[in-house]
Amino acid sequence: MGKVLVIGCGGVASVAIHKCVQNHEVFNEICIASRTKSKCDKLKEVLEKQYGNVCKITTAQVDANSVEQLVTLMKEVKPDVVLNLALPYQDLTIMDACLECRVSYVDTANYEPEDTAKFEYKWQWEYRERFEKAGITALLGSGFDPGVTGVFSAYALKHEFDEINYIDILDCNAGDHGYPFATNFNPEINIREVSAKGSYWEDGRWVETEPMEIKRVYDFPEVGPKDMYLLHHEELESLGINIPGIKRIRFFMTFGESYLRHLKCLENVGMTSIEPIEFEGKQIVPLQFLKAVLPDPASLGPRTVGKTNIGCIFQGKKDGKDKTYYLYNVCDHQECYKEVGSQAISYTTGVPAMIGAMLVMNGTWKKPGVYNIEEFDPDPFMEALNKWGLPWQESHNPALVD
Ligand code: NDP
Repeated sequence: MGKVLVIGCGGVASVAIHKCVQNHEVFNEICIASRTKSKCDKLKEVLEKQYGNVCKITTAQVDANSVEQLVTLMKEVKPDVVLNLALPYQDLTIMDACLECRVSYVDTANYEPEDTAKFEYKWQWEYRERFEKAGITALLGSGFDPGVTGVFSAYALKHEFDEINYIDILDCNAGDHGYPFATNFNPEINIREVSAKGSYWEDGRWVETEPMEIKRVYDFPEVGPKDMYLLHHEELESLGINIPGIKRIRFFMTFGESYLRHLKCLENVGMTSIEPIEFEGKQIVPLQFLKAVLPDPASLGPRTVGKTNIGCIFQGKKDGKDKTYYLYNVCDHQECYKEVGSQAISYTTGVPAMIGAMLVMNGTWKKPGVYNIEEFDPDPFMEALNKWGLPWQESHNPALVD
Protein backbone atom coordinates (compact mmCIF):
# COMPACT_ATOMS: atom_id res chain seq x y z
CA MET A 1 0.00 0.00 0.00
CA GLY A 2 1.27 3.46 -0.73
CA LYS A 3 0.77 6.96 -1.99
CA VAL A 4 1.31 8.15 -5.56
CA LEU A 5 1.66 11.75 -6.63
CA VAL A 6 0.54 12.10 -10.26
CA ILE A 7 1.72 15.23 -12.05
CA GLY A 8 -0.40 16.29 -15.03
CA CYS A 9 -4.10 15.73 -15.54
CA GLY A 10 -4.49 15.27 -19.30
CA GLY A 11 -5.48 12.31 -21.45
CA VAL A 12 -2.85 9.83 -20.28
CA ALA A 13 -2.99 10.89 -16.62
CA SER A 14 -6.75 10.46 -16.53
CA VAL A 15 -6.47 6.79 -17.58
CA ALA A 16 -3.52 6.11 -15.27
CA ILE A 17 -5.43 7.60 -12.33
CA HIS A 18 -8.56 5.54 -13.14
CA LYS A 19 -6.30 2.48 -13.10
CA CYS A 20 -4.67 3.51 -9.78
CA VAL A 21 -8.14 3.83 -8.23
CA GLN A 22 -9.15 0.42 -9.65
CA ASN A 23 -5.93 -0.89 -8.09
CA HIS A 24 -6.70 0.70 -4.72
CA GLU A 25 -5.28 -2.23 -2.78
CA VAL A 26 -1.87 -0.98 -3.94
CA PHE A 27 -2.57 2.76 -4.29
CA ASN A 28 -4.53 3.67 -1.18
CA GLU A 29 -3.78 7.39 -1.60
CA ILE A 30 -3.54 9.42 -4.80
CA CYS A 31 -2.68 13.09 -5.14
CA ILE A 32 -3.46 14.60 -8.56
CA ALA A 33 -1.47 17.78 -9.18
CA SER A 34 -1.41 19.80 -12.37
CA ARG A 35 -1.21 23.28 -13.82
CA THR A 36 -5.00 23.63 -13.95
CA LYS A 37 -6.38 22.46 -10.61
CA SER A 38 -10.02 22.55 -11.79
CA LYS A 39 -9.25 19.62 -14.14
CA CYS A 40 -7.91 17.61 -11.18
CA ASP A 41 -11.02 18.42 -9.12
CA LYS A 42 -13.29 17.40 -11.97
CA LEU A 43 -11.50 14.08 -12.39
CA LYS A 44 -11.66 13.43 -8.63
CA GLU A 45 -15.43 13.96 -8.78
CA VAL A 46 -15.79 11.51 -11.69
CA LEU A 47 -13.65 8.90 -9.91
CA GLU A 48 -15.55 9.16 -6.64
CA LYS A 49 -18.84 8.83 -8.49
CA GLN A 50 -17.64 5.84 -10.54
CA TYR A 51 -15.77 3.88 -7.84
CA GLY A 52 -17.00 5.26 -4.49
CA ASN A 53 -14.54 6.23 -1.75
CA VAL A 54 -12.24 3.24 -2.24
CA CYS A 55 -9.09 5.32 -1.70
CA LYS A 56 -8.17 8.81 -0.62
CA ILE A 57 -7.87 11.29 -3.51
CA THR A 58 -6.51 14.81 -3.08
CA THR A 59 -5.76 17.50 -5.67
CA ALA A 60 -3.27 20.35 -5.95
CA GLN A 61 -2.10 23.11 -8.25
CA VAL A 62 1.53 23.01 -9.35
CA ASP A 63 3.69 24.50 -12.05
CA ALA A 64 5.95 21.59 -12.87
CA ASN A 65 8.49 23.93 -14.49
CA SER A 66 9.30 25.15 -10.98
CA VAL A 67 11.49 22.86 -8.87
CA GLU A 68 10.66 25.00 -5.85
CA GLN A 69 6.88 24.51 -6.23
CA LEU A 70 7.38 20.79 -6.82
CA VAL A 71 9.54 20.40 -3.72
CA THR A 72 6.99 22.24 -1.57
CA LEU A 73 4.25 19.97 -2.92
CA MET A 74 6.26 16.78 -2.42
CA LYS A 75 7.14 17.77 1.15
CA GLU A 76 3.47 18.30 1.87
CA VAL A 77 2.13 15.18 0.11
CA LYS A 78 5.03 12.84 1.05
CA PRO A 79 4.43 10.41 -1.83
CA ASP A 80 6.06 6.99 -2.14
CA VAL A 81 6.39 7.49 -5.90
CA VAL A 82 5.93 10.36 -8.35
CA LEU A 83 4.27 9.55 -11.67
CA ASN A 84 5.13 12.25 -14.20
CA LEU A 85 2.34 12.52 -16.79
CA ALA A 86 2.83 16.18 -17.66
CA LEU A 87 4.77 17.02 -20.81
CA PRO A 88 8.32 15.90 -21.74
CA TYR A 89 9.54 19.46 -21.08
CA GLN A 90 8.99 18.98 -17.34
CA ASP A 91 10.97 15.74 -16.89
CA LEU A 92 14.13 17.35 -15.53
CA THR A 93 12.50 19.72 -13.05
CA ILE A 94 10.43 16.84 -11.68
CA MET A 95 13.54 14.63 -11.45
CA ASP A 96 15.36 17.45 -9.60
CA ALA A 97 12.52 17.74 -7.08
CA CYS A 98 12.42 13.94 -6.63
CA LEU A 99 16.15 14.00 -5.85
CA GLU A 100 15.70 16.74 -3.29
CA CYS A 101 12.80 14.92 -1.61
CA ARG A 102 14.23 11.41 -2.15
CA VAL A 103 11.18 10.03 -3.93
CA SER A 104 11.27 7.52 -6.79
CA TYR A 105 10.25 8.74 -10.24
CA VAL A 106 8.35 7.25 -13.20
CA ASP A 107 7.58 8.83 -16.60
CA THR A 108 6.38 7.90 -20.09
CA ALA A 109 8.34 10.19 -22.39
CA ASN A 110 11.94 11.36 -22.47
CA TYR A 111 13.03 14.91 -21.91
CA GLU A 112 12.85 17.28 -24.83
CA PRO A 113 13.87 20.95 -24.64
CA GLU A 114 10.87 23.10 -25.54
CA ASP A 115 12.78 25.07 -28.18
CA THR A 116 14.46 22.14 -30.01
CA ALA A 117 12.40 19.25 -31.37
CA LYS A 118 14.97 16.64 -30.45
CA PHE A 119 14.43 13.93 -27.93
CA GLU A 120 17.37 12.04 -26.50
CA TYR A 121 17.97 10.21 -23.25
CA LYS A 122 21.29 11.93 -22.57
CA TRP A 123 19.80 14.56 -20.27
CA GLN A 124 18.00 12.06 -18.07
CA TRP A 125 20.83 9.49 -18.10
CA GLU A 126 23.03 12.22 -16.58
CA TYR A 127 21.01 11.80 -13.37
CA ARG A 128 22.13 8.17 -12.89
CA GLU A 129 24.76 8.74 -10.25
CA ARG A 130 22.68 11.23 -8.28
CA PHE A 131 19.69 8.87 -8.15
CA GLU A 132 21.96 6.00 -7.15
CA LYS A 133 23.50 8.02 -4.34
CA ALA A 134 20.07 9.17 -3.14
CA GLY A 135 18.92 5.52 -3.07
CA ILE A 136 15.92 6.19 -5.32
CA THR A 137 14.77 4.71 -8.63
CA ALA A 138 13.90 6.55 -11.83
CA LEU A 139 11.98 4.38 -14.30
CA LEU A 140 12.06 6.02 -17.73
CA GLY A 141 9.46 5.43 -20.41
CA SER A 142 6.63 3.44 -18.82
CA GLY A 143 3.97 4.06 -21.47
CA PHE A 144 3.32 1.83 -24.48
CA ASP A 145 6.00 3.01 -26.86
CA PRO A 146 8.31 3.59 -25.10
CA GLY A 147 7.21 1.26 -22.36
CA VAL A 148 5.50 -1.98 -23.25
CA THR A 149 7.70 -2.23 -26.37
CA GLY A 150 10.77 -2.35 -24.07
CA VAL A 151 9.09 -4.87 -21.77
CA PHE A 152 8.19 -7.01 -24.82
CA SER A 153 11.85 -6.86 -25.92
CA ALA A 154 13.14 -7.89 -22.48
CA TYR A 155 10.54 -10.70 -22.35
CA ALA A 156 11.46 -11.99 -25.82
CA LEU A 157 15.14 -11.98 -24.88
CA LYS A 158 14.48 -13.75 -21.59
CA HIS A 159 12.09 -16.45 -22.82
CA GLU A 160 12.30 -16.85 -26.60
CA PHE A 161 15.81 -16.07 -27.86
CA ASP A 162 19.49 -16.54 -27.10
CA GLU A 163 20.13 -13.48 -29.23
CA ILE A 164 17.85 -10.87 -30.84
CA ASN A 165 19.24 -9.36 -34.04
CA TYR A 166 16.32 -7.38 -35.49
CA ILE A 167 13.38 -5.59 -33.89
CA ASP A 168 10.59 -3.86 -35.81
CA ILE A 169 8.20 -1.93 -33.58
CA LEU A 170 4.83 -1.50 -35.29
CA ASP A 171 2.36 1.05 -33.93
CA CYS A 172 -0.98 0.86 -35.68
CA ASN A 173 -3.94 3.05 -34.83
CA ALA A 174 -6.90 2.09 -36.98
CA GLY A 175 -9.27 4.29 -34.99
CA ASP A 176 -11.58 6.67 -36.82
CA HIS A 177 -12.74 9.83 -35.01
CA GLY A 178 -14.58 11.29 -37.99
CA TYR A 179 -12.58 14.56 -38.09
CA PRO A 180 -10.52 15.36 -41.21
CA PHE A 181 -7.54 16.14 -38.92
CA ALA A 182 -6.98 15.63 -35.20
CA THR A 183 -4.23 14.09 -33.10
CA ASN A 184 -4.83 11.33 -30.60
CA PHE A 185 -2.58 12.76 -27.95
CA ASN A 186 -1.13 16.17 -27.20
CA PRO A 187 -1.07 17.77 -30.72
CA GLU A 188 2.12 19.71 -30.06
CA ILE A 189 4.08 16.61 -29.00
CA ASN A 190 2.51 14.48 -31.73
CA ILE A 191 3.23 16.89 -34.58
CA ARG A 192 6.79 17.55 -33.39
CA GLU A 193 7.32 13.78 -33.48
CA VAL A 194 5.93 13.09 -36.94
CA SER A 195 7.33 16.14 -38.74
CA ALA A 196 10.88 15.38 -37.56
CA LYS A 197 13.35 13.41 -39.70
CA GLY A 198 13.05 9.64 -39.43
CA SER A 199 15.86 7.40 -38.29
CA TYR A 200 16.66 3.83 -37.38
CA TRP A 201 19.48 2.08 -35.59
CA GLU A 202 21.69 -0.20 -37.67
CA ASP A 203 25.07 -1.77 -36.92
CA GLY A 204 25.73 0.54 -33.99
CA ARG A 205 24.83 3.83 -35.69
CA TRP A 206 21.85 5.98 -36.64
CA VAL A 207 20.64 6.02 -40.25
CA GLU A 208 18.66 9.19 -40.94
CA THR A 209 15.75 9.49 -43.39
CA GLU A 210 13.56 12.35 -44.56
CA PRO A 211 10.24 12.64 -42.68
CA MET A 212 7.90 9.85 -43.90
CA GLU A 213 10.43 8.72 -46.55
CA ILE A 214 10.11 4.99 -45.83
CA LYS A 215 6.66 3.51 -46.26
CA ARG A 216 5.52 -0.10 -45.87
CA VAL A 217 2.14 -1.83 -45.82
CA TYR A 218 1.50 -4.34 -43.06
CA ASP A 219 -1.48 -6.63 -42.55
CA PHE A 220 -2.11 -6.20 -38.81
CA PRO A 221 -3.88 -8.99 -36.88
CA GLU A 222 -7.51 -8.00 -36.08
CA VAL A 223 -7.09 -4.72 -38.00
CA GLY A 224 -6.10 -5.48 -41.60
CA PRO A 225 -3.61 -3.91 -44.02
CA LYS A 226 -2.44 -0.36 -43.21
CA ASP A 227 0.16 2.07 -44.57
CA MET A 228 2.92 2.67 -42.06
CA TYR A 229 5.91 5.00 -42.07
CA LEU A 230 9.32 4.83 -40.46
CA LEU A 231 9.81 7.39 -37.66
CA HIS A 232 12.52 8.09 -35.16
CA HIS A 233 11.30 6.97 -31.75
CA GLU A 234 12.92 7.32 -28.38
CA GLU A 235 13.07 3.65 -27.37
CA LEU A 236 15.36 2.89 -30.33
CA GLU A 237 18.13 4.70 -28.45
CA SER A 238 17.92 2.66 -25.24
CA LEU A 239 17.09 -0.69 -26.89
CA GLY A 240 20.11 -0.25 -29.19
CA ILE A 241 22.24 -0.29 -26.04
CA ASN A 242 20.32 -2.67 -23.80
CA ILE A 243 19.57 -5.56 -26.18
CA PRO A 244 22.85 -7.42 -26.78
CA GLY A 245 23.49 -8.68 -30.32
CA ILE A 246 21.07 -6.22 -31.90
CA LYS A 247 21.83 -5.32 -35.53
CA ARG A 248 18.85 -3.17 -36.47
CA ILE A 249 15.81 -1.59 -34.79
CA ARG A 250 13.14 0.29 -36.67
CA PHE A 251 9.90 1.98 -35.62
CA PHE A 252 6.85 2.27 -37.88
CA MET A 253 3.60 4.11 -37.24
CA THR A 254 0.44 3.99 -39.34
CA PHE A 255 -1.05 7.18 -40.75
CA GLY A 256 -4.12 7.64 -42.88
CA GLU A 257 -4.00 9.58 -46.12
CA SER A 258 -6.16 12.43 -44.80
CA TYR A 259 -3.88 12.95 -41.80
CA LEU A 260 -0.78 13.14 -43.98
CA ARG A 261 -2.39 15.47 -46.52
CA HIS A 262 -3.43 17.90 -43.79
CA LEU A 263 -0.07 17.69 -42.06
CA LYS A 264 1.78 18.47 -45.30
CA CYS A 265 -0.43 21.46 -45.94
CA LEU A 266 -0.01 22.77 -42.36
CA GLU A 267 3.75 22.32 -42.69
CA ASN A 268 3.81 24.12 -46.04
CA VAL A 269 2.10 27.18 -44.58
CA GLY A 270 4.35 27.23 -41.51
CA MET A 271 1.76 26.18 -38.92
CA THR A 272 3.85 23.33 -37.49
CA SER A 273 6.88 25.54 -36.77
CA ILE A 274 8.16 25.83 -33.19
CA GLU A 275 9.98 29.11 -33.97
CA PRO A 276 8.16 31.97 -32.23
CA ILE A 277 6.72 34.67 -34.50
CA GLU A 278 5.37 38.11 -33.73
CA PHE A 279 1.58 38.37 -34.05
CA GLU A 280 -0.28 41.57 -33.15
CA GLY A 281 2.51 42.68 -30.84
CA LYS A 282 2.76 39.29 -29.12
CA GLN A 283 5.20 36.39 -29.57
CA ILE A 284 3.38 33.20 -30.48
CA VAL A 285 4.60 29.73 -31.46
CA PRO A 286 2.65 28.59 -34.56
CA LEU A 287 2.48 24.97 -33.38
CA GLN A 288 1.07 26.04 -30.01
CA PHE A 289 -1.54 28.15 -31.79
CA LEU A 290 -2.41 25.17 -33.99
CA LYS A 291 -2.86 23.07 -30.85
CA ALA A 292 -5.39 25.60 -29.60
CA VAL A 293 -7.57 25.29 -32.71
CA LEU A 294 -7.42 21.49 -33.09
CA PRO A 295 -9.87 19.19 -31.30
CA ASP A 296 -8.80 18.41 -27.74
CA PRO A 297 -7.60 14.76 -27.78
CA ALA A 298 -9.68 14.19 -24.64
CA SER A 299 -12.82 14.96 -26.68
CA LEU A 300 -12.11 12.19 -29.22
CA GLY A 301 -13.06 9.37 -26.85
CA PRO A 302 -16.80 9.19 -27.54
CA ARG A 303 -16.36 9.47 -31.33
CA THR A 304 -13.44 7.13 -31.98
CA VAL A 305 -14.22 3.64 -33.25
CA GLY A 306 -11.85 0.86 -34.27
CA LYS A 307 -8.76 -0.75 -32.81
CA THR A 308 -5.09 -0.20 -32.14
CA ASN A 309 -2.47 -2.89 -32.59
CA ILE A 310 0.98 -2.14 -31.17
CA GLY A 311 3.78 -4.64 -30.89
CA CYS A 312 7.26 -5.84 -31.80
CA ILE A 313 8.47 -8.35 -34.37
CA PHE A 314 11.72 -9.99 -33.31
CA GLN A 315 14.22 -11.94 -35.41
CA GLY A 316 17.14 -13.72 -33.83
CA LYS A 317 18.54 -17.06 -32.79
CA LYS A 318 17.53 -19.80 -30.40
CA ASP A 319 19.68 -22.93 -29.96
CA GLY A 320 21.65 -21.99 -33.07
CA LYS A 321 18.54 -21.72 -35.27
CA ASP A 322 16.95 -18.64 -36.83
CA LYS A 323 13.68 -17.67 -35.19
CA THR A 324 10.94 -15.03 -35.55
CA TYR A 325 8.47 -13.94 -32.89
CA TYR A 326 5.75 -11.26 -32.69
CA LEU A 327 4.31 -9.87 -29.46
CA TYR A 328 1.43 -7.40 -29.68
CA ASN A 329 -1.63 -5.97 -28.00
CA VAL A 330 -4.93 -5.15 -29.65
CA CYS A 331 -7.05 -2.51 -27.95
CA ASP A 332 -10.54 -1.33 -28.86
CA HIS A 333 -11.24 2.44 -28.69
CA GLN A 334 -14.89 2.06 -27.69
CA GLU A 335 -14.16 -0.56 -24.99
CA CYS A 336 -11.66 1.87 -23.45
CA TYR A 337 -14.16 4.68 -23.60
CA LYS A 338 -16.80 2.58 -21.85
CA GLU A 339 -14.39 1.67 -19.06
CA VAL A 340 -12.53 4.92 -18.33
CA GLY A 341 -13.97 7.60 -20.65
CA SER A 342 -10.88 7.80 -22.94
CA GLN A 343 -9.80 6.50 -26.33
CA ALA A 344 -7.24 3.73 -26.78
CA ILE A 345 -4.15 5.94 -27.28
CA SER A 346 -4.47 7.39 -23.79
CA TYR A 347 -5.50 3.96 -22.47
CA THR A 348 -2.52 2.09 -23.91
CA THR A 349 -0.21 4.66 -22.29
CA GLY A 350 -2.05 5.17 -18.98
CA VAL A 351 -2.27 1.48 -18.06
CA PRO A 352 1.51 0.83 -18.33
CA ALA A 353 2.15 4.09 -16.46
CA MET A 354 0.11 2.78 -13.52
CA ILE A 355 1.86 -0.61 -13.71
CA GLY A 356 5.33 0.98 -13.71
CA ALA A 357 4.43 3.16 -10.72
CA MET A 358 3.08 0.09 -8.91
CA LEU A 359 6.20 -2.03 -9.50
CA VAL A 360 8.52 0.76 -8.38
CA MET A 361 6.38 1.67 -5.40
CA ASN A 362 5.92 -1.86 -4.07
CA GLY A 363 9.63 -2.62 -4.46
CA THR A 364 9.30 -5.27 -7.19
CA TRP A 365 11.39 -3.02 -9.42
CA LYS A 366 13.54 -1.21 -6.92
CA LYS A 367 17.11 -0.43 -7.89
CA PRO A 368 18.67 2.91 -7.14
CA GLY A 369 19.65 4.79 -10.28
CA VAL A 370 18.05 5.78 -13.59
CA TYR A 371 16.84 2.91 -15.77
CA ASN A 372 14.96 2.32 -18.98
CA ILE A 373 12.14 -0.13 -18.69
CA GLU A 374 13.85 -3.03 -20.53
CA GLU A 375 16.50 -3.09 -17.80
CA PHE A 376 14.04 -4.63 -15.33
CA ASP A 377 12.63 -8.17 -15.10
CA PRO A 378 9.73 -8.13 -17.62
CA ASP A 379 7.70 -10.97 -16.06
CA PRO A 380 5.75 -9.05 -13.38
CA PHE A 381 4.94 -6.31 -15.91
CA MET A 382 3.74 -8.84 -18.51
CA GLU A 383 1.49 -10.44 -15.90
CA ALA A 384 0.10 -7.05 -14.88
CA LEU A 385 -0.66 -6.11 -18.51
CA ASN A 386 -2.99 -9.10 -18.73
CA LYS A 387 -4.63 -8.23 -15.44
CA TRP A 388 -5.09 -4.48 -15.98
CA GLY A 389 -6.59 -4.32 -19.46
CA LEU A 390 -3.82 -4.75 -22.06
CA PRO A 391 -3.60 -8.50 -22.68
CA TRP A 392 -0.82 -9.46 -25.09
CA GLN A 393 -0.82 -11.99 -27.87
CA GLU A 394 2.02 -13.80 -29.57
CA SER A 395 2.78 -15.34 -32.93
CA HIS A 396 5.70 -17.63 -33.72
CA ASN A 397 5.25 -17.26 -37.44
CA PRO A 398 4.58 -13.59 -38.18
CA ALA A 399 4.75 -11.86 -41.57
CA LEU A 400 7.96 -9.82 -41.60
CA VAL A 401 8.49 -6.22 -42.71
CA ASP A 402 10.94 -6.01 -45.64
P1 NDP B 1 -2.04 16.27 -22.30
O1 NDP B 1 -1.66 17.52 -22.99
O2 NDP B 1 -3.40 15.72 -22.46
O3 NDP B 1 -1.77 16.44 -20.73
C1 NDP B 1 -0.64 17.07 -20.22
C2 NDP B 1 -0.97 17.50 -18.81
O4 NDP B 1 0.19 18.09 -18.23
C3 NDP B 1 -2.08 18.55 -18.74
O5 NDP B 1 -2.91 18.27 -17.67
C4 NDP B 1 -1.31 19.84 -18.51
O6 NDP B 1 -1.98 20.81 -17.78
C5 NDP B 1 -0.17 19.31 -17.66
N1 NDP B 1 0.94 20.26 -17.70
C6 NDP B 1 1.54 20.80 -18.79
N2 NDP B 1 2.49 21.66 -18.40
C7 NDP B 1 2.48 21.67 -17.05
C8 NDP B 1 3.21 22.37 -16.07
N3 NDP B 1 4.17 23.26 -16.40
N4 NDP B 1 2.93 22.14 -14.78
C9 NDP B 1 1.98 21.26 -14.42
N5 NDP B 1 1.25 20.56 -15.29
C10 NDP B 1 1.50 20.77 -16.59
O7 NDP B 1 -0.94 15.18 -22.73
P2 NDP B 1 -1.11 13.59 -22.76
O8 NDP B 1 -1.85 13.15 -21.57
O9 NDP B 1 -1.54 13.19 -24.10
O10 NDP B 1 0.43 13.14 -22.62
C11 NDP B 1 1.07 13.11 -21.35
C12 NDP B 1 2.47 12.54 -21.51
O11 NDP B 1 2.42 11.22 -22.01
C13 NDP B 1 3.35 13.33 -22.50
O12 NDP B 1 4.64 13.44 -21.95
C14 NDP B 1 3.39 12.44 -23.72
O13 NDP B 1 4.57 12.63 -24.47
C15 NDP B 1 3.35 11.08 -23.07
N6 NDP B 1 2.88 10.00 -23.97
C16 NDP B 1 3.59 8.82 -23.97
C17 NDP B 1 3.21 7.79 -24.78
C18 NDP B 1 3.92 6.48 -24.70
O14 NDP B 1 3.41 5.49 -25.24
N7 NDP B 1 5.05 6.35 -24.05
C19 NDP B 1 2.07 7.91 -25.71
C20 NDP B 1 1.32 9.14 -25.56
C21 NDP B 1 1.76 10.16 -24.74
P3 NDP B 1 -3.18 21.72 -18.41
O15 NDP B 1 -4.37 20.87 -18.25
O16 NDP B 1 -3.19 22.96 -17.61
O17 NDP B 1 -2.81 21.95 -19.86
